[in-house]
Amino acid sequence: MTNMEKILIIDDSLLQATQLKSILEDDYDITIAQTAEAGLCCVGETTFSLILLDVVMPGMDGFTLLKKLQEEIITQSIPVILITSLSDIQNEQRGFTLGAVDYIAKPFNPLIVKARVNTHVKLYSYRRQIEQQSRTDQLTGIANRREYDRYSIIKWNEAVRLKVPFSICMFDIDHFKAYNDTFGHPAGDKVIANVAKTISSHLQRSTDFVARYGGEEFVAFVLGGDADRVFGHLKTIRQAVEDLHIPHEPSVSKWVTISIGGVTVLPDKESAYDVYLKVADTMLYDAKRFGRNRVAWANEKMEQWHEK
Ligand code: GH3
Ligand code: MG
Ligand code: MG
Repeated sequence: MTNMEKILIIDDSLLQATQLKSILEDDYDITIAQTAEAGLCCVGETTFSLILLDVVMPGMDGFTLLKKLQEEIITQSIPVILITSLSDIQNEQRGFTLGAVDYIAKPFNPLIVKARVNTHVKLYSYRRQIEQQSRTDQLTGIANRREYDRYSIIKWNEAVRLKVPFSICMFDIDHFKAYNDTFGHPAGDKVIANVAKTISSHLQRSTDFVARYGGEEFVAFVLGGDADRVFGHLKTIRQAVEDLHIPHEPSVSKWVTISIGGVTVLPDKESAYDVYLKVADTMLYDAKRFGRNRVAWANEKMEQWHEK
């Protein structure tokens, strides 16, 4: 039951909803809502793979609900199949214009209902899979550069709106060229994956974001927390990577380590993200310059924190 894809049936007629349920319940986890309002509630609480929506209902009708679903980011991609007895061309057109993926006309033919539902659930599942892949870095499983580009704006604006401190953190593996030269590229790949896992395991809040910035570099955003506190947290992350005890080429370093640079700012609309990204980058450069395996931090007043 738990692994089944979830389908929501929104229909004021319990008889009709139950009919549909009996056609689909062997293959899907079915929820029934008897008003558009109740349906809206359901989609706010559970992730559905498909919605079967009755067009004619007292109160909010199917078309109005469909429009609402299309306007919300969370629900706009869920496929909606309209159920109707109004099998005239005009209503069908209106439904498709509003974004319905298909139509099922009453009375139901069980085989056709099943076939159409299966098709749309499958297509939606592929689509989610592809979207997920396009956001993820294959080697590390964390967000990729493209997702970072998208998120940097979203997160910055979120911090502006919430009026909370925003931290940009840059991470870079130390002397990694030497590691590759000694142990080979495949071994290097494993290190990158391990370091990514360690960094992201320490940035698990819903407001945190971690991505692979490129090669052996990572970037993270932290919302909330003043410079001092975030600096402290990143020292912990830096130490956690050292504590993985991944042997490096001995003449270079005992273990694989990372350098971290970053900045904490209280952003407002005027302060541009790119300016502070440059500051974070400069701090990373400082961490390297002052000896690597350390954290260098700044705030918007350019006060600085240096580890060691
Ligand atoms: P520094 O301490 O100054 O950061 O020195 P570094 O050698 O780490 O820096 P540099 O930028 O000179 O070299 C980075 C190296 O990271 C170059 C390349 O061999 C390695 N690298 C980049 N991307 C990958 C990757 O996807 N897999 C592997 N295995 N190595 C990578
Ligand atoms: Mg680098
Ligand atoms: Mg490096």
